[in-house]
Amino acid sequence: MPRYDLHSHSTHSDGLLAPAAVVERAVARGVDFLALTDHDDTSGLPEAIAAADGTGMTLVPGAELSVSWESHTIHVIALQIDPSNAVLEAGLATIRSGRDSRAKLMSESLAAAGIKGAYEGARRYVTSERLISRTHFARFLVESGHVRETKDAFKRYLTPGKPGYVKHEWASLPDAVGWIHAAGGQAVVAHPGRYKVSPTGMRRFLGEFRDAGGDGVEVLSSSHTTAQYAEYAAYARTFGLLASCGSDYHGPGESWLDLGDLPAMPAGVTPVWTRW
Ligand code: AMP
Ligand code: MN
Ligand code: MN
Ligand code: MN
Repeated sequence: MPRYDLHSHSTHSDGLLAPAAVVERAVARGVDFLALTDHDDTSGLPEAIAAADGTGMTLVPGAELSVSWESHTIHVIALQIDPSNAVLEAGLATIRSGRDSRAKLMSESLAAAGIKGAYEGARRYVTSERLISRTHFARFLVESGHVRETKDAFKRYLTPGKPGYVKHEWASLPDAVGWIHAAGGQAVVAHPGRYKVSPTGMRRFLGEFRDAGGDGVEVLSSSHTTAQYAEYAAYARTFGLLASCGSDYHGPGESWLDLGDLPAMPAGVTPVWTRW
């Protein structure tokens, strides 16, 4: 069985390794198909594709799109996209465009809670001029001693209801799916087990996603428990969606799973790669 890891990040968003280093690590770990899926950006793909050339590993061009649905932020993975598609590129540019002003508002909110200089502090961790994310703030909060680990930064500061969280309007679900399809890709719900929605809400969401043309859900994810592997395999079956798997690797020391560290896909689902 080939090894698939269809969700990973590089320095072109909030990962710690450059695209070529992500590829090198995946090859060393025996991955056969790796998707680089940086947040709201495809600018790391040319480097990743070049690095994969001649290694025997296939680089799957991807991205992870930030979407607003009802009151939730949902991530939608794009797989097998044409990275130079103009419709997708324009869509991603609109998603990215709000990030800097959001970061300034986050900084003001943290300042009101007594934490000064967060914008400048977070910017020291930014590795792509095109994209600042909450992860960069989390790294600053650790460095400045406000929290011990990045996950505590999210728990105490960067999530809804906490100082430092700023509500933000991302892409709509139909727009995101449409842009991905325009680029010839598959649209896959990232880490569905992470969203704070009731079972009824999840069914409503997956129904809307499928009706918008969505293709699949991540069944295997570093955000999921073993019970959630089975739960989302069942959702995939009942909603007629394909199944995907990804470590969501961000870099050494910052991820639950390393590249390729995924169990076998549960029986009874149709993997996304059967349509490639
Ligand atoms: P943003 O797109 O700027 O809202 O940042 C979202 C990113 O923050 C995600 O892609 C993760 O990398 C990171 N993140 C979100 N929640 C957590 C958490 N609880 N622990 C660690 N990282 C998180
Ligand atoms: Mn991230
Ligand atoms: Mn995500
Ligand atoms: Mn991710």
